[in-house]
Amino acid sequence: MDYVYGPGRNHLFVPGPVNIPEQVTRAMNRNNEDYRSPAIPALTKTLLEDVKKIFKTTSGTPFLIPTTGTGAWESALTNTLSPGDRIVSFLIGQFSLLWIDQQQRLNFKVDVVESDWGQGANLEVLASKIAEDKAHTIKAICIVHNETATGVTNNLATVRKILDHYQHPALFLVDGVSSICALDFRMDEWGIDVALTGSQKALSLPTGMGLICASPKALEATKTAKSVRVFFDWNDYLKFYKMGTYWPYTPSIQLLYGLRTALDLIFEEGLDNVIARHGRLAKATRLAVEAWGLKNCTQKEEWFSDTVTAVVVPPYIDSSEIVKRAWKRYNLSLGLGLNKVAGKVFRIGHLGNLNELQLLGCLAGVEMVLKDVGYPVKLGSGIAAASAYLSNTTPLIPSRI
Ligand SMILES: *Cc1c(COP(=O)(O)O)cnc(C)c1O
Repeated sequence: MDYVYGPGRNHLFVPGPVNIPEQVTRAMNRNNEDYRSPAIPALTKTLLEDVKKIFKTTSGTPFLIPTTGTGAWESALTNTLSPGDRIVSFLIGQFSLLWIDQQQRLNFKVDVVESDWGQGANLEVLASKIAEDKAHTIKAICIVHNETATGVTNNLATVRKILDHYQHPALFLVDGVSSICALDFRMDEWGIDVALTGSQKALSLPTGMGLICASPKALEATKTAKSVRVFFDWNDYLKFYKMGTYWPYTPSIQLLYGLRTALDLIFEEGLDNVIARHGRLAKATRLAVEAWGLKNCTQKEEWFSDTVTAVVVPPYIDSSEIVKRAWKRYNLSLGLGLNKVAGKVFRIGHLGNLNELQLLGCLAGVEMVLKDVGYPVKLGSGIAAASAYLSNTTPLIPSRI
């Protein structure tokens, strides 16, 4: 696709990387620093304390590793498991597929539980596997909380219930890359052993930091986990935590300051308000999709994602054309359909530091593109549905009511 200059802002509505608030870019616009000076450990200490809040954990141990979500996956697996260990993993879209591929390449024995793309993880199959596994050969359950490719959110509380019901000791490893800081996420309450996310999703930071949180049980598992790990070894971090210097190797100084500001903004709004805001923007998006006469890729309401909506287009339209035209004509960035749903869906990301009018701008753009590609949309129909809903519900930003 040829690059074309366009005036004004790019409207970034891919489900990650997302918009970075100006407060964060300003906080990051600074020189490098000596990370062995007292300033960086002092800053790091506040970050490690405060990130626990976004995981909703008090007993977890956080690690902020210079990496992406993919590295955070690897860190979760190699620190807690040994080659040949049996894992149950759910294939429901491109991100769960990629994680499963990583699990297989790291030589774990993966029971892949597959569902149609657009459906959630099949937890009935999980229940029967757990019920049958009296010998506890299953060492871990790996699940993507929010499948970003299809806009499906899985029910993690049910996974915990199943494990508890059969008193099964499997580790519970969760990809929260497109959920933590945007969807209801409760590491301690749901008994999650490793939860992880990446900086460029709901935290609205640049890419480059993997945020991982390990339960006491996960830390215990590292003592016997035989997977080869070097860069991602939690023990190196723990050693430096004890010394109070925190970093086994160089962190991104700018990202640490960015994270400080990102967390400050989230706490100022209130984490629960942030989550409620995601719920409202998602609902408004779904109402617009309905008003356009299009279908959500997510097949049941219980799985609707509040961070990304995958919209199914009619068979006579190629969804990649919608994404191309949105970018070229309107400077609007939408998410492509990935793999099995390529050409069939386009995605609207509505996560991170975002407000109502930004979303309405995106929805206006989508309407115009739909018309441009020959879909019989009534211009304004989606906007009307979304704005009617938004103006009738309370925004939940305390200082602004
Ligand atoms: C974006 C994403 C990833 C991959 O993260 P990278 O930072 O690109 O490595 C993994 N899982 C989910 C659910 C995601 O949305």
